[in-house]
Amino acid sequence: MELIAKKWYDNLAQGKIMGARCLDCGAFTFPPLSVCRQCNSRNIEWQEISGNGQVIMFSSSILPAKKFAKYAPIPYGIVKLEEGPCFFTKVEGFDCSTVESIARENEKLPQKVKAEVQKIEGVNIVVFRKA
Ligand SMILES: [Zn+2]
Repeated sequence: MELIAKKWYDNLAQGKIMGARCLDCGAFTFPPLSVCRQCNSRNIEWQEISGNGQVIMFSSSILPAKKFAKYAPIPYGIVKLEEGPCFFTKVEGFDCSTVESIARENEKLPQKVKAEVQKIEGVNIVVFRKA
């Protein structure tokens, strides 16, 4: 497991956002695991994601972990990747300033987004920006 995490962060440091394709059933897993979520095969291959997705749920966090408190409110959402899997993460370009603005953003869903790597507090994370 530690090796997968290292490989994941090494790729992010190079701007590469990786998923895993099962070579037996074709299912795509994101973030990558060593086992296919569909068929439990270990015959998988890492592939860079297209970065294309759609936000299908949007909200914000006003009480993030202490390390990230200065960034609050943090907009987040569930992103459905073009490759299939859903991912829960920070999103950019959405108005989370009030409860009403969050409701208005949700009325416009799904909205197209594009993945990018962002360095926050020294950690590379995957965020999705409104396309
Ligand atoms: Zn599989």
